[in-house]
Amino acid sequence: MSDTATTPTNATFDQFGLHADILKAIAEQGYTTPTPIQAEAIPVVLGGRDVMGAAQTGTGKTAGFSLPIIQRLLPLASTSASPARHPVRALILTPTRELADQVAANVQAYAKHTSLRSAVVFGGVDMNPQSAELRRGVEILIATPGRLLDHVQQKTANLGQVQILVLDEADRMLDMGFLPDLQRILNLLPAERQTLLFSATFSPEIKKLAATYLRNPQTIEVARSNSTATNVTQIVYEVAEGDKTGAVVKLIRDRGLKQVIVFCNSKIGASRLARQLERDGVVATAIHGDRTQSERMQALDAFKRGEIEALVATDVAARGLDIAELPAVINFDLPFNAEDYVHRIGRTGRAGASGDALSLFSPNERKQLADIEKLIKRPLDVQRLTVDTPVRHHHDERGARRERDDRGSRRRTTGAHERPAHGTHHRQQPVDDFFLKPYEPSPSAVSAAAKRDETPAAPQKPASKQPLAALLGGFGMPRKTTPSN
Ligand code: AMP
Repeated sequence: MSDTATTPTNATFDQFGLHADILKAIAEQGYTTPTPIQAEAIPVVLGGRDVMGAAQTGTGKTAGFSLPIIQRLLPLASTSASPARHPVRALILTPTRELADQVAANVQAYAKHTSLRSAVVFGGVDMNPQSAELRRGVEILIATPGRLLDHVQQKTANLGQVQILVLDEADRMLDMGFLPDLQRILNLLPAERQTLLFSATFSPEIKKLAATYLRNPQTIEVARSNSTATNVTQIVYEVAEGDKTGAVVKLIRDRGLKQVIVFCNSKIGASRLARQLERDGVVATAIHGDRTQSERMQALDAFKRGEIEALVATDVAARGLDIAELPAVINFDLPFNAEDYVHRIGRTGRAGASGDALSLFSPNERKQLADIEKLIKRPLDVQRLTVDTPVRHHHDERGARRERDDRGSRRRTTGAHERPAHGTHHRQQPVDDFFLKPYEPSPSAVSAAAKRDETPAAPQKPASKQPLAALLGGFGMPRKTTPSN
């Protein structure tokens, strides 16, 4: 175990016995040396053992599990056009659409010289093209849980031949209320399989999940649980709440940042900040769960192309985003859930690059700061930031009151999950509503099922309000794996 996930290793990709077609793809990606998680995980996954991996996005974990999966499936690869020769053999579950998309792009790139097929399915977009692709047959399926269940419902996805399951960012899947969906999916998989669980943190809930569904797993930890990458410089700037927008503009301008993700705790806050930044001359856009999938993809693509300077994001929308060489992230708000701080700053300093994590801290965020320092087990460097330029659209009292009113009315009318009162249990942090819906068959799934005269599965209840531990304690089902050997 090393402190820095990106510390170069002495390992080489040649030493793992990977097929020449895979090595060629790795070289084309420009990877010369395996990252620590790759050096540790690849041999274990190749050996067929279950894995409990503590690794954040940004450590190279996707290749850490995808490369050996591709190698293991290669003997089963077929050039036949028959869908029956291309059953789903590896299933990779991710919490968000963006992460699913990124993992799929990586898998596609690593398997490009083989005849293995891969596909990605996530919600918020038309199911039909996904269904058509699934019907043609794919060996590696990357999916978000809800949409996968839609496809199972529609009988376009059959999980009966899955040999390898990956639960990527499992902690976030639990945070987002996906546990019931995960349980349904796990029940559809063969008992005899390899299971790889990756999580940025090893909370008691994650350990419980692993104890229930993994079989004698090998623990792989390349960064201390809940630690932050050491190649990220972390600075906390103390500013008045009303000066935060001006502070963001100042940091972007003074540091000449051309590409920065700015994190906000709420969707309303993210939208408002993006508008304010635009008015202050920063090219900005917001991504959050209220925006359609295509809007989010467009915003992300524009950001990746360098057309947008500041991508203002909520935690869930930004989860898993992999933007090459992102020089900095800014926390406009300190997150209510300290673990989100670790996830947020993991967006910068990726794969060995250095990065800056700049956080704005107002006097009413002392508890969040203390929670973060407790989690990462060290004090953060707090500096004062003087914002001289008057900010025209600052977060004044009236604005704050308006926002509170907005939130109040949303809560009354929609029951949406909103920002909890300060100091409430962090599991009830604001989460984009879209992701909180566990499994509701989409209209197309329902109508397709109806056409075949099938009864669609009853929509699930909204994400349970029960404490997660209670839910996990309630795993009453027989364990799907065979006993440890
Ligand atoms: P991940 O943690 O899987 O999201 O990967 C983070 C980034 O590191 C991605 O952009 C990968 O393409 C890149 N990456 C993964 N493995 C390597 C490697 N061995 N050398 C250089 N970059 C890598």
